[in-house]
Amino acid sequence: MEIEPTPASETFAGLGLNAPLLQVLDQLGYETPTPIQQHTIPLLLAGRDVIGQAQTGTGKTAAFALPLLQRLDLTLNAVQALILTPTRELAIQVAEAVHTYSKQLGRVKVLPVYGGDSIQKQLARLRGGVHIVVGTPGRLMDHVRRDTLDFSALKTVVLDEADEMLRIGFLEDVEWLLGQMPQQRQTALFSATLPKEVRRIADRYLTNPASAEVAHKTLTVPTVEQRSLHVSEAHKLEALTLLLEAEGAPGEAILIFARTKLRVAELAERLQARGYAVEAMHGDLNQAQRESVLRRLRAGQVEIVIATDVAARGLDVERIARVVNYDIPGDPEAYVHRIGRTARAGRAGQAVLFVTPREERMLREIERYTRQKITRAKLPTRADVAARRLALFKERLLAALERDDLEFYLPLLGEVAAESGRDMAEIAAAAARLAHGDQPLVVPVEPAPEAVPVAEDGMVRLFIAAGRVSGVRPADIVGAIANEAGVPGKAIGAIDIYDDFTFVDVPAEYYAQVLSAMTTTTIRNQPARIRPATERDVRATPARRPYGADQPHGPRAGGKPYVPKNKRPKPPSGKGRRRP
Ligand code: AMP
Repeated sequence: MEIEPTPASETFAGLGLNAPLLQVLDQLGYETPTPIQQHTIPLLLAGRDVIGQAQTGTGKTAAFALPLLQRLDLTLNAVQALILTPTRELAIQVAEAVHTYSKQLGRVKVLPVYGGDSIQKQLARLRGGVHIVVGTPGRLMDHVRRDTLDFSALKTVVLDEADEMLRIGFLEDVEWLLGQMPQQRQTALFSATLPKEVRRIADRYLTNPASAEVAHKTLTVPTVEQRSLHVSEAHKLEALTLLLEAEGAPGEAILIFARTKLRVAELAERLQARGYAVEAMHGDLNQAQRESVLRRLRAGQVEIVIATDVAARGLDVERIARVVNYDIPGDPEAYVHRIGRTARAGRAGQAVLFVTPREERMLREIERYTRQKITRAKLPTRADVAARRLALFKERLLAALERDDLEFYLPLLGEVAAESGRDMAEIAAAAARLAHGDQPLVVPVEPAPEAVPVAEDGMVRLFIAAGRVSGVRPADIVGAIANEAGVPGKAIGAIDIYDDFTFVDVPAEYYAQVLSAMTTTTIRNQPARIRPATERDVRATPARRPYGADQPHGPRAGGKPYVPKNKRPKPPSGKGRRRP
């Protein structure tokens, strides 16, 4: 294996990608290629075999999917590319990503193939002609043995997460499959680590491979207090709000990083809706707009800026006391750049990194690269938020005591004391109450889900802690409830899928059965944590917005909640029935 410098470009166009792909990337809000993309895309486009050392979160899927799509011959109705993945989840995700990236190319047919899925369905799709197959080794071997998968037109093979395949014990199957393929082909191997068995596969089955290991530049890591918060994607927003409430200090600015410009825009909107003075900053802003954001940030008119990595380049604002990595960066270097935006001019800075379960490895990578341990922190509690509110209010009162215009109020308070017969402490408390306004000082504890709101006649509304962001679809909900709790699918009522959670209505007679049967159920790999919906959930329901445009791994969701056919309102019909 040779290591060679590869041409790297800062733009997708510079990597040689064609117009339809560039258009999709723009729509997805990807601004610049990640390091692994910079290194592998030109090599793969040139037809080279490649060993890419990269893990989840680095943008590796696009790194192999984009060149593979560009090299596809759509006039040829045959399997031209095969992507091998260790798990069915990954197969589905990668297939969805490939499908998303292919959107402007015409009708590219992508088929995920994995055990557990109906083989008949797969056969029918294969017979109809498929360009790209994404699958797990076992099921692919079945198809090859049955002669239902033809490799004769195969041009490109990708081994995704090769080290995971090794760990699960799939390497032999992978070798068997590689043995069935035409010799003349391009092979790309992606792996987070390169143990010797994986290297052996590379030596044996790759031809003169270029190695795209992302060499890190050495950087000085700023001295910033760093913490990680471990949250699921679904809980990020709640975690962020708690964090802002429990730690934000007046006069300090916060810089929040999200991965794409669409995520930046979405998060900005959600925080605005919660009353924060927020600005979004991404690569689409022109210089004047960018400067206007910076001016308002410096002047304290804006407390939070949400940015992509590109947009935040060179940002140097002393007020930034805190950096929140809402989405983990694609590589450790970006992390160092990000946290370097705080602690400017020798001030103390703090950085928080949100880490979802799949991103633990990237966290370790960052720690290795920075040679610093990132402290695992606990999410602030509601009690912390309450304590913080009290402390801030006390500060405001103490500051007011320093002012010299208090004399003016003293006679007035004397009158109030005389008329009410109350003592000064009580009067001060009343004044404080007035001054503080409506934000409660004591944050109510999440109420126990006592009252069960009845959704409609005889139906009970349940809350499930997974939504669009986790890829939940109506079929997942119906499937889970029908299979686990034995409720007839027909009986299940309206299903409203929001970004982070889902409401589903079930007939009251099944309610207890569903709750007890589903205590440990997972939906899309997330604990469903099903419980009765409370009035509070319903009130907190965000405005609906389509999710998924920026997530090739997510569903291509529409904006409307799903309502089963038999529950849809009938249009007014016939005799004398008119709408008022
Ligand atoms: P992966 O490492 O392939 O699992 O990708 C991780 C996430 O990064 C996915 O949600 C991708 O949509 C996203 N992504 C991939 N490439 C880029 C890019 N160049 N800019 C922004 N996001 C990206």
